[in-house]
Amino acid sequence: MTEIEQLSYDVIVIGAGGAGLRAAIEAREQGKKTAIISKSLFGKAHTVMAEGGCAASMGNVNDKDNWMVHFGDTMRGGKFLNNWRMAELHAKEAPDRVWELETYGAVFDRTPDGKISQRNFGGHTYPRLAHVGDRTGLELIRTLQQKIVSLQQEDFAATGDYEARIKVFAECTVTDLTKDGDRISGALAYWRESGRHLVFEAPAIILATGGIGKSFKVTSNSWEYTGDGHALALRAGASLINMEFIQFHPTGMVWPPSVKGILVTESVRGDGGVLTNSEGKRFMFDYIPDVFKAQYATTEEEADRWYTDADNNRRPPELLPRDEVARAINSEVKAGRGTPHGGVYLDVSSRLKAEVIIKKLPSMHHQFKELADVDITKEPMEVGPTCHYVMGGVEVDPDTGAASVDGLFAAGECSGGMHGSNRLGGNSLSDLLVFGRRAGAGAAAYVDSLGSQRPAISDDDVQVAARRSVAAFGDGGQEGSENPYTLHQELQQTMNDLVGIIRKEEEIQEALDKLEGLKARGEQVVVEGHRQFNPGWHLALDLRNMLLVSECVAKAAILRTESRGGHTRDDYPTMDAEWRHVLLVCTLNADGTIDVERQEQIPVRNDLLDLFESDELGKYFTTAELGGRI
Ligand code: FAD
Repeated sequence: MTEIEQLSYDVIVIGAGGAGLRAAIEAREQGKKTAIISKSLFGKAHTVMAEGGCAASMGNVNDKDNWMVHFGDTMRGGKFLNNWRMAELHAKEAPDRVWELETYGAVFDRTPDGKISQRNFGGHTYPRLAHVGDRTGLELIRTLQQKIVSLQQEDFAATGDYEARIKVFAECTVTDLTKDGDRISGALAYWRESGRHLVFEAPAIILATGGIGKSFKVTSNSWEYTGDGHALALRAGASLINMEFIQFHPTGMVWPPSVKGILVTESVRGDGGVLTNSEGKRFMFDYIPDVFKAQYATTEEEADRWYTDADNNRRPPELLPRDEVARAINSEVKAGRGTPHGGVYLDVSSRLKAEVIIKKLPSMHHQFKELADVDITKEPMEVGPTCHYVMGGVEVDPDTGAASVDGLFAAGECSGGMHGSNRLGGNSLSDLLVFGRRAGAGAAAYVDSLGSQRPAISDDDVQVAARRSVAAFGDGGQEGSENPYTLHQELQQTMNDLVGIIRKEEEIQEALDKLEGLKARGEQVVVEGHRQFNPGWHLALDLRNMLLVSECVAKAAILRTESRGGHTRDDYPTMDAEWRHVLLVCTLNADGTIDVERQEQIPVRNDLLDLFESDELGKYFTTAELGGRI
């Protein structure tokens, strides 16, 4: 093997989305020499695509809002399977993180009296999403990057080198983590442009690689979402939780086929959009589940009144949590009441004036005009469910983001627990800021605790990982000649059709059988050409990760014999309280297969349970868990 460039850092952050950048800022502010590695261009992460906003109970639009209401909404949204400590920290700290973003230079939309404006979103009791039109993620990334530049300027003033304490490695993919005994020691990466390897020696690594959506055919996610962080964690010996819970956002574009899956922000419904079927019926009133009956309007008149008088009316059912709306749309289409292109109608033109739509939803207006030749100020959109977000991820300590392997941390979409079985819209951007910061601090504290006992990186391990990463060029002893693009398409179709929005045992089993075959064929992938910018090779490496995380999703999905949040079983259609306190934990066996074990959740602290009515808790918890409460 040729000589590999070796670099040394205290903390490496893999991923330059909101979670990664906030983590890196924290680690650097705590005095740690920090590297940010991103396989996409700097500034191109999923965070930049976030439209609707960042949830934080600042109470700017309705002063009844506070962290306790936000905590309650988050737990309800996740069907009480959430890691309650994460949900508590998130609800308490999100407002400070939004304020902090303003000190970094974020310019949020304003209320008439000059406060940060907040909009309604599904499952949130009060208007709670701080936003910048429907381009909130762009502002979030812009200001976090700006903060990094300002830190680099400080470093230049102190050392004469902008990159002395924080450096960005863009278009650089991490393929493996290395360990010294049980502790993380570094990571192997390659430059996407040249294909050349580089190795990072570092005692602490923060995974902030986002989600896994590219394993599904219809998705709002872009090419980077291949579950790399999930797979890196598994291969390093860490565990994943909640992998059966995948969020299918109710509203993706369904037409034309080339853009199927692209997101239609929930803000359209938050700002007054209504869903109708091909018969013109506003069907969501038929789909309000018992657990939400008290909070949602049962007539169109009441739902319409809510937009102008939220205190005295219940919310429209279009603003139920995403899992409920996605299932309802799926049922309408299946019952033959869908649109010509297999979706339902979403109309905002009958409620808002054209100029208001263009001001509040500029990206949606542009997106539909450009991609589908639909003017949303005059006509309805056609929408249907799209794979959007993974609730499952690396099992972490809520306070520090530490995974079960020493030196490994995770934050953002690639970590698990915070959102339980279903995430509320807007709760991801706040999650990134709250837990990005915590993981940065956790990693810095871990490095401090090591003193001079830093783990060493083994050259042998690096060479093994480097050889593995180029195996698809044919020097890895493969006999076959599988094409990564073909395998990827088969994987996406399998996950879409068999482990998608509605699941049943036979189909999940069929998916598992197919995944086994795909995994074996994955070993035989061969790519043409050489290592200079070679997309086939990049996909071959991503495929290894997607296959592993897809196995986690399918294996956990077959075991959870109930329906909850982002896991709907046709053969077990109801929620079962005996499953609420159970987590399914995925680990990697030595033979490369995934093992899934049941683990009991830590019981919710009493003072947090006191925030709910006993009647409501009785819908989710077992009688034994609630003891004397009911
Ligand atoms: P990302 O922002 O995706 O960043 C992941 C980073 O990891 C990228 O830099 C990527 O290049 C890098 N990476 C991945 N693998 C590797 C590797 N092997 N090596 C090196 N780098 C790697 N949430 C909300 O709260 N509000 C919204 O309004 C909202 N709107 C959304 C709209 C869309 C269209 C989408 C897709 C999502 C939306 N979400 C929203 C969800 C939210 O945007 C994401 O969950 C969140 O941005 C994830 O942030 P992250 O930092 O965890 O990951």
